[in-house]
Amino acid sequence: MGIEEKLPSGVLLSTVEGLVGYFRKASVWPATFGLACCAIEMMATGAPAYDTARFGMEVFRASPRQADLMIVAGRVSQKMAPVLRQIYDQMPEPKWVIAMGVCASSGGMFNNYAIVQGVDHVVPVDIYLPGCPPRPEMLLDAIIKLHEKIRTAKLGVNKERLLAEEERQALEA
Ligand code: SF4
Repeated sequence: MGIEEKLPSGVLLSTVEGLVGYFRKASVWPATFGLACCAIEMMATGAPAYDTARFGMEVFRASPRQADLMIVAGRVSQKMAPVLRQIYDQMPEPKWVIAMGVCASSGGMFNNYAIVQGVDHVVPVDIYLPGCPPRPEMLLDAIIKLHEKIRTAKLGVNKERLLAEEERQALEA
């Protein structure tokens, strides 16, 4: 007989890690941070028609210290890169990044000296979202995929992120 069958009905079993992941994913607060045309679609995603409030994330925060999600919505210029990195560093752990659109993901059609060829040269990225611009439905899909990543994440140091940071720094050196 399994342990579930021995327990009285109404008893719910979980792990602390499972509960933390469940609650974390239900209250992800994005930083107010738009860079270009993709930001218009990001703003539309926060409007009532797409209703991110149902995920507990309608509060875009003006202070990075109160945000745990950075949606990089648009191309990143070389001049903006250090500012973006500073905002990322000011966000408390744990934190996540969505590269929204081809420009943020890879530089897109801006294959030139002025634009960073993918924001993962500046910060570690959790989800890459294609499209020019991605529609709000696509951003919602990326958010739901990120929720799954957050829900199943291990507590403690994010080794995947550390590795990505080390690789990035080695490439920059
Ligand atoms: Fe603009 Fe398209 Fe680049 Fe988004 S992906 S910033 S819509 S050019």
